[in-house]
Amino acid sequence: MSKSINLTSEQAHLIIERYREFSVPHTNNYTLFRAKNKTSTLTIFKTLTLLIQGSNSNDLYQEICSLINITPVIDEAKNSSLSIELSLIGTDEVGTGDFFGGIVVAAAYVRKDQIKILKRLGVKDSKQLNDSKILELGEVLIKEIVFSVHVLDNLKYNYINRIQNYNMNKIKALLHNSAIRHLRTKVKNYDGIVIDAFTTKEKYFNYLSDEKEIVTEVKLEEKAESKYVSVAVASIIARYFFLDHFNKLSKEVGFELPKGAGPKIDLAIQKILKTRNLKYFETIAKTNFKNLDKYK
Ligand code: MN
Repeated sequence: MSKSINLTSEQAHLIIERYREFSVPHTNNYTLFRAKNKTSTLTIFKTLTLLIQGSNSNDLYQEICSLINITPVIDEAKNSSLSIELSLIGTDEVGTGDFFGGIVVAAAYVRKDQIKILKRLGVKDSKQLNDSKILELGEVLIKEIVFSVHVLDNLKYNYINRIQNYNMNKIKALLHNSAIRHLRTKVKNYDGIVIDAFTTKEKYFNYLSDEKEIVTEVKLEEKAESKYVSVAVASIIARYFFLDHFNKLSKEVGFELPKGAGPKIDLAIQKILKTRNLKYFETIAKTNFKNLDKYK
């Protein structure tokens, strides 16, 4: 039986102070602190995930819950959703629903022996993770995982969308195929390739029909992010690079740009138009989005 808790840094501090006398050395890069008593092991990862393992893990778990003043969770068998244990290449994309910023697609290779530790680190569907967690996990993942990433900036996006007339799904298909091709030059032994589905398999290959090199042994699966660790890792890496790209854009524009394509975008557009012209959006936004229509 193992138990895990996501800690704040204050809570991590309390636990480290309390169990310091039982601490044992640790060797891997993910770990912040490890302690052992006769029956259980306590590990705090750098992502501030606490893991309690061992035959009496429940006692220690209860003790820690009261130490850091949280309510114990009775049954914690939910972590098993990312449970398909093969060495897979997974792919996912970010930015396709955001007016500002480009598109990032990542492909990641996760060996089956990495799955457990990645889950313990808190790898899951990136939509369930906030930006600071993405940055934290991303730092670890880009060092530990074999991956490839494509950042399509706004100039290129707007060009291929308007001049070449490629729609969003075609652009995604090209980027996924390309990221997989690139990753395959670095990875030889994998059990399969899973794409977080954004279209049907038939359409996916239609979009790629003009490509010279098409990776055909791919599986397109809906909600793959929550089923496959490799896809979850790809989604986190993609989001990690997207955040970096997006923050640079915000800096350039001079204020924090809003994400998505909702009502907040309009205010941002007006603010930018006070000092810049419409053409400027070619370099910072997806100009085919409706958000810009009334200003054209
Ligand atoms: Mn996706």
